[in-house]
Amino acid sequence: HHTKKDGARFLLKLSGEAFSGGGDLGVDPDVVHAIAREVAAVVRDGYEIAVVIGGGNFFRGAELQQRGMDRARSDYMGMLGTVMNCLALQDFLEKEGIGSRVQTAITMGQVAEPYIPLRAIRHMQKGRVVIFGAGMGMPYFSTDTTAAQRALEIHAEALLMGKNGVDGVYDADPKKNPDAVKFDALEYGEVITRDLKVADATAVTLCRDNELPILVFELLKEGNIARAVRGEKIGTLVSA
Ligand code: UDP
Repeated sequence: HHTKKDGARFLLKLSGEAFSGGGDLGVDPDVVHAIAREVAAVVRDGYEIAVVIGGGNFFRGAELQQRGMDRARSDYMGMLGTVMNCLALQDFLEKEGIGSRVQTAITMGQVAEPYIPLRAIRHMQKGRVVIFGAGMGMPYFSTDTTAAQRALEIHAEALLMGKNGVDGVYDADPKKNPDAVKFDALEYGEVITRDLKVADATAVTLCRDNELPILVFELLKEGNIARAVRGEKIGTLVSA
């Protein structure tokens, strides 16, 4: 049988925005392929990886609400958008020869398994990547919060937050303020009181209450996913 020895397990949160690559299509296959190659490499090294992908490249509930739509319905659209990102990543993982399963919080049997935590752990132990789609399945939540919750439930060592175009947490927006200073390390409390852009407050609070470390790093820099799982000093580490 193919059960591997238990490797270190991580929950990787991927920016949905990064998936679009700035192009016209919702998903840029070249970007997804590059990410899949990096995930495949760490799985071959024996790490267990579960993934949550954002949906900002398709729909954000709050933005649709501002344009007059019902919030809960727009949030469901947002959740469905994340599933397309999951299927794209699954496809390129398969091309890399890495098995994967998509598990969704909203059941859609033709394209994904339902979310079954123990089964997700079993998949990872067999060397498969598990990709969690459709967020928590509940409006008013985010994929950041989903990533924190799933990380806790599958007993991941840390939440690795791969960001689009920024290499960590700064004291101001580095795109607007050239004097912004990057933090190498932060405590949960500082993130919350200074409202620093790590994840939404619900997600950060969940991590703090359960002492789940968060590493914020730049997703599309080559080799960064491997550096993150190896615990190299990149990005910003949020811990107690
Ligand atoms: N969403 C939700 N519940 C969840 C996860 C996501 O309602 O558990 C919706 C929400 O509308 C959100 C969208 O899905 O705006 C995309 O998710 P993501 O967290 O990526 O939003 P972003 O961070 O891009 O605003």
